[in-house]
Amino acid sequence: MNLILLGPPGAGKGTQAKILAKKFDIPQISTGDILRGAVKEQSPMGIKAKGYMDSGSLVPDEVVVGIVKERLTKPDCSKGFILDGFPRTVIQADALKLTLGDMGKAIEHVISIVVDKEELLARITGRRTCRSCGKGYHLSFDPPKKVGVCDECGGELFQRDDDSEATMRNRLDVYEKQTAPLIDYYGHDSLLRTIIGTGSIDEIKQNILTGIKDGTV
Ligand code: AMP
Repeated sequence: MNLILLGPPGAGKGTQAKILAKKFDIPQISTGDILRGAVKEQSPMGIKAKGYMDSGSLVPDEVVVGIVKERLTKPDCSKGFILDGFPRTVIQADALKLTLGDMGKAIEHVISIVVDKEELLARITGRRTCRSCGKGYHLSFDPPKKVGVCDECGGELFQRDDDSEATMRNRLDVYEKQTAPLIDYYGHDSLLRTIIGTGSIDEIKQNILTGIKDGTV
């Protein structure tokens, strides 16, 4: 099960990737999470990536391709993997194809999650995360019981630097220009399944599973 989840920021890729990773017992590989980890650790890669991330631009291809190449060689990827937020450019998609080819593997499904722009803006700008345990909330759709405090661990909730409205608009533009061409790229390889990303988390999960099973969505 070698899977890519494709879609604009806020489409729910991370949420669905976590559910599918658990269901199929394969790792979720989120380049955004790996990069945020590097920023937090202040590693040389993190220091380099921070400026791009804060402004909503893409981190250079060679950096993210390097991250993914290394991650794919780990033993937990032997049964499959879910790429969440990678590839984001045609250059990254080409590099992925080559890397997997060298390993005797290939992508089997690309799930494109579609959500309209206004909904994405509302979703992202209301997103909050616990600084201690990482649990996610939404100010309107899934608020914490006490403002600014995590229900699970009492940690402080914060807004990701790149979830502000101005940065989010840039991230959506970047998606349209640099990542949306991958819809044709994978459509051409007949790997693409398109899923409407509105509705309950469970409905969306079911649609993805149907798409993976019969390849017709
Ligand atoms: P995400 O959490 O997937 O929305 O990623 C957050 C930020 O990390 C993006 O806005 C980019 O700056 C950077 N990033 C994550 N994945 C990639 C990628 N595949 N290519 C380039 N930049 C990335």
